[in-house]
Amino acid sequence: MGKTIGIDLGTTNSCAAVVENGQPVIIPNEKGNRTTPSIVAFTRSGEQLVGEAAQRQAAVNSDRTVSSIKRQMGTNWSKTIDGKRYTPQEISSMILRKLKKDAENYLGEPVNDAVITVPAYFNDVQRQATKDAGRIAGLNVKRIINEPTSAALAYGLNNGAAQKILVYDLGGGTFDVSIIEIGGDVIEVLATNGDNHLGGDDFDERIVTHLLGIIKKQSNVDVRKDISALQRLREAAEQCKKELSGLESARIYLPYLTMTKGEPVNFEYTLTRAEFNELTKDLVDRTEVPVRNALNDAGIAASELGKVILVGGSTRIPAVQAKVRALTGKTPERSINPDECVAQGAAMQGDLLSDGTLQLYNGGTGLLLLDVTPLSLSIETVGGVATRLVERNSTLPVHYSQVFTTAAPYQRSVDINVLQGERPMARDNKSIGRFRLNGIKGAPAGVPQIEVTFDIDVNGILKVSARDLDTGREQSITIDDNERMSDAQIEQAIRDAQQYAAQDGIRREAVEVNNEAGRLINEVQQKLQAQKKDISKEDRNFLRNDIASLQKAMSRNNPAKATQADLQEAKTALDNLKQSSTRILG
Ligand code: AMP
Repeated sequence: MGKTIGIDLGTTNSCAAVVENGQPVIIPNEKGNRTTPSIVAFTRSGEQLVGEAAQRQAAVNSDRTVSSIKRQMGTNWSKTIDGKRYTPQEISSMILRKLKKDAENYLGEPVNDAVITVPAYFNDVQRQATKDAGRIAGLNVKRIINEPTSAALAYGLNNGAAQKILVYDLGGGTFDVSIIEIGGDVIEVLATNGDNHLGGDDFDERIVTHLLGIIKKQSNVDVRKDISALQRLREAAEQCKKELSGLESARIYLPYLTMTKGEPVNFEYTLTRAEFNELTKDLVDRTEVPVRNALNDAGIAASELGKVILVGGSTRIPAVQAKVRALTGKTPERSINPDECVAQGAAMQGDLLSDGTLQLYNGGTGLLLLDVTPLSLSIETVGGVATRLVERNSTLPVHYSQVFTTAAPYQRSVDINVLQGERPMARDNKSIGRFRLNGIKGAPAGVPQIEVTFDIDVNGILKVSARDLDTGREQSITIDDNERMSDAQIEQAIRDAQQYAAQDGIRREAVEVNNEAGRLINEVQQKLQAQKKDISKEDRNFLRNDIASLQKAMSRNNPAKATQADLQEAKTALDNLKQSSTRILG
């Protein structure tokens, strides 16, 4: 069996790891970096760029560059480029495909299986979208696991003592806090909480807004109207934020940022850590309630925590670390790089699922990972009330059935609205699917018995089924969720990706063939000139003909749109010239 890799598909950066010789190791990408920017771009010549290559050109190609796609997972966001519409699943699949390829290069063997992590707070639709992205990328997603659980697994390996751990995970776009109990060979999530829309990007945005105000005051220009200037400002803001994690002040210098009245605007500013803390204080404070809620839900006091783990790049911010200390009374652990521990844990889970070589701290080879559902699940009942079927923090997998009945006499169908959230009224929760149960036997209100079953698998993915107990007949229910990709759409996306991969191969070869052809033509022309007197007119014409045919074939073999036939024709013309030049020129 091939190796199962662990993937942390992050908002800003992604990271892949694998277990080798019993230990998790980070897989470097083709540039030798340990994390890969989660950025995808489409060049005008039809190329797809992922990672550093996409990041480098983001400022000059911002309308064809997608970043932070994780924030859109499970929504109906889409982007149309050159007439093709891309879903968040497809964009994410491009990042996954690159991680898969880098892992294959590193391991020297095909990689088909993966464990992918998601924020604990991701709902069912977001988890399914992540799984679908894996499928489109050609990966068999063996398990979706929660990022904090994954981090705890990575830390648990270093320390086998039974204890309760708080994982504080502030990444690029999401915030997660989990209380996890590690003991023996069980890792059990006791509670999880968080904020789906809080992360490092928000800190960057605060700096950007601050700088925009200063530029407006200094030069009276609105940089928001200049997309590439805004992109440069964003990159500078993030860089400045990172520097402020280690320094008391950071300088931003952006020459020729934009133009106003025909004059260039140069921008220079020094931001202090104190200023930055002031701009972002409310963001740091927003992590407080989820931490308290998670502790409450787990039924423990902060003093009972064995350790606190920091995960995610944004936990490098000193004010964030100070907040964690203030909230928990503990100095957080950071012995594993916060950007890497999630991928490491995922690789360990992958290894356990594929009977690998992992050496566990308890000396055994088995480990039970008990994750929980992050939000309660309900259905809407009479009066718009959310009637709860599954409590949040229930250990996965969950199987729960409840019997419902009709509200009106001789009602032949019921509409069921499946809800996720903690609020008592249906309208205040997120509707994740609706279904209609038809064919109920006509009877007075309250007589029919309809058993509704919620099944949540180990990935946190929900399936709903229903049975009419009167007739004993299973009813089929379709969850009508327009944000979810259908199987047919996924198949189409897989075909598109494969077609792209094939086109990519042709493109690469077309470039190589044209380069070689150019070199050969040059060489032949030089030799023809040098050996003019020794070559017969007939041979000269022969060579000139072959050169002309090759030049024609090269122009058809345009890497942006070459077909297999164009490529073949160029290869044949190249071979012809090779042969004739060897025969005639030696
Ligand atoms: P992640 O999603 O875990 O990769 O976290 C990425 C986020 O961490 C981005 O918003 C980065 O800007 C942020 N980040 C990375 N390094 C630092 C740093 N040294 N100081 C502050 N934030 C950082």
